[in-house]
Amino acid sequence: MIIPIKKVKFQLNTTVKYSEMSANLRLVFRNKYLMKLKIIVGLLFLSCYSVFGQAQITEAPLNTTILNDSGALQKRAIRKNIPLTNSIQKAYKAGTRDVSGRPGPNYWQLKTDYSINANLNPETQTITGSETIALHNNSGDKLNQIVLRLDHNIYRPRVPRGFSVPAETTGGMVVTRIKINGTEIDLKASPPRQSSQGQQKIEKSFAVGLDQTVATVVLAKPIDARSVATIDIDWHTKLPGGEGGQGHRMTQRWESKLFQPTQWYPRLAKYDDLRGWDTNVYLGPSEFYNNFGGFDVKIEVPAGWLVSGTGVLQNAREALAPFVRERLASALKTDAEVMIIKEGERGVGKALLPRNKNVWHFLAEEVNDFAWATSNQFVWRSTRANIPNKGYVPVHMFYLPERANLFKNAGKNARHALEFYSKLLIPYAFPQLTLQDGPSAGMEYPMVINSNQGAADHETFHQWIPMMMGTNETRYGWMDEGFNQYSNILSDADARGKPFNIDRLGQQYGSISGNEDEPMMMWNANYGGTFYGFQTYGKTMMMFSMLGGVVGDNAMNAAIKKYMETWKFKHPSPWDFTFFMNKELGRDLNWFWYYWLFTTESVNGSINNVTAQGEKTQITIHQAGEMPSPVILKVEFADGNEKIKSMPNAKMVDDKTAIVKWNEDVWFNGNRDFQATLDFGKRPIKKITLDPFGRFPDSETKDNVWTSK
Ligand SMILES: [Zn+2]
Repeated sequence: MIIPIKKVKFQLNTTVKYSEMSANLRLVFRNKYLMKLKIIVGLLFLSCYSVFGQAQITEAPLNTTILNDSGALQKRAIRKNIPLTNSIQKAYKAGTRDVSGRPGPNYWQLKTDYSINANLNPETQTITGSETIALHNNSGDKLNQIVLRLDHNIYRPRVPRGFSVPAETTGGMVVTRIKINGTEIDLKASPPRQSSQGQQKIEKSFAVGLDQTVATVVLAKPIDARSVATIDIDWHTKLPGGEGGQGHRMTQRWESKLFQPTQWYPRLAKYDDLRGWDTNVYLGPSEFYNNFGGFDVKIEVPAGWLVSGTGVLQNAREALAPFVRERLASALKTDAEVMIIKEGERGVGKALLPRNKNVWHFLAEEVNDFAWATSNQFVWRSTRANIPNKGYVPVHMFYLPERANLFKNAGKNARHALEFYSKLLIPYAFPQLTLQDGPSAGMEYPMVINSNQGAADHETFHQWIPMMMGTNETRYGWMDEGFNQYSNILSDADARGKPFNIDRLGQQYGSISGNEDEPMMMWNANYGGTFYGFQTYGKTMMMFSMLGGVVGDNAMNAAIKKYMETWKFKHPSPWDFTFFMNKELGRDLNWFWYYWLFTTESVNGSINNVTAQGEKTQITIHQAGEMPSPVILKVEFADGNEKIKSMPNAKMVDDKTAIVKWNEDVWFNGNRDFQATLDFGKRPIKKITLDPFGRFPDSETKDNVWTSK
């Protein structure tokens, strides 16, 4: 999805950092800290004393690496690995993932095939549906329960939500029947009492949480490992309309004339090798983690209503007049945009054929969701995009004619995005892309984007992540939205015929770092709170700006492409991504991943001292932050006849400017000062700039420049 820019806008940390405090203030801070420490130690002492009698208490030493950054003695502890949590260790042990960042020999994922029959009644604004899910349990585990995602329960009056508020509360997703492997589940059955001996055998299956966004069905008869189970569910849900809601996906219709159903059917939650069932509740802002599989969907609407959606329409011959089908075929033969159904052509007897039952039948293979839209007022325009190794795919736009201005550039923007991201990553895998008009204008589903021209580029990128590579958005939003924001920069430059530029982004992180809510691996995106926007959308492009500064932008982009090729239609974890990048780039970057993903630290570099020593120049580079970085200097020479000698780690960018680079390992001894020696010969140096491309997080850049007097 896209969130309004005011929400993405980074909250700057306005508190003064310790390193920026005056000496007096530092003393006050230090004394306060000491006092607090003394109180804590005192309390500990009091509580321990009675137990241990003669406990010896020595005051805990202050951690000078954290509290004091000036002076020669203190070192910093540079961490060169990343935490391996229980979940990833479990996967390595089981061989489902590999430390090289690739799927392991025993990799598995669930597959879910859905057959859905649904009916939309515009008068009651309600969808009534029944579905069959074929659950391919490809794991080696017996499933004692299944977990269902009932997202529409977020519209019930009393459920947990993030900053999303529906404009209209409804009765939510009302599940009326569940059958598993042919056995009816008694939805009114209550959980058995826990016996004092612990878990007892379940005699009768039961469901809990059917009025919540996540429900569990505990099974009397478990689903066997490596078997296929059948789950039948009947339900109905009213699509919320109205005004005054907040957040995405909180309005799904305009009165009774346009419906944009999303997350509209009960979905089977993800069960994976990392954590088993994903039971994160749906709070609104952060998104999904879905299984891949096929969809066979039949949607019935009243006569005269046009339906768009995920997949390929199977019964176009029954539904669409011959002239409409001819125009559709012709749209694939030209770069021009073709009106498929014009304003005056809408309705039965014109663009739509008369039928007894107006069922629209869609099929989709290997997708992780299904979304659609319908209106009796839609017009339909199409164009095409040229996909490498595939040829032309149609790009459809369904919108209200009075909003045509919002779709003026939509086809062009979506086509550029499809073609550009196909080259940047992997070719677009799906047979079509559809842009749907409606109240949700910035949301993505497989082959469907609820977007006009404004967010067309961003939402189209989502066809790659998470639609072709199913990252866990709920937990690791940055692997989805963060990659997206970064890639949008490249796409935008390409659309304007310019080279992309990610300078300065990495440096900017220096003025944001330090807020405890922003490390992406410390906070599950679902619970990111006020920093959700920054940690999910903003931080990754800054991280990639620095990574490009370490390994080169082109090498980084090529490695990301390989990562996408390796994990397409699978579910990579953050460890898979980081270790894959290390391997692909041939470089141990764990120090980099550690600081960016697990901490709030920054580099805060400066030039502290410059002295001439004969023909050489000694520069003291200081890093006040905990995150190390390569040292990159731009050296500008004065005019003159003296020859500029070459240095092995320097590159002349013109006849008076050199870029000199030392790798990050110059800091691995823990020192905060590094003596950089320039050996360019007798030509006087006019100016030296540290981090000239602004790639390394730094809250104060004035101290990065030295000029000769
Ligand atoms: Zn997005």
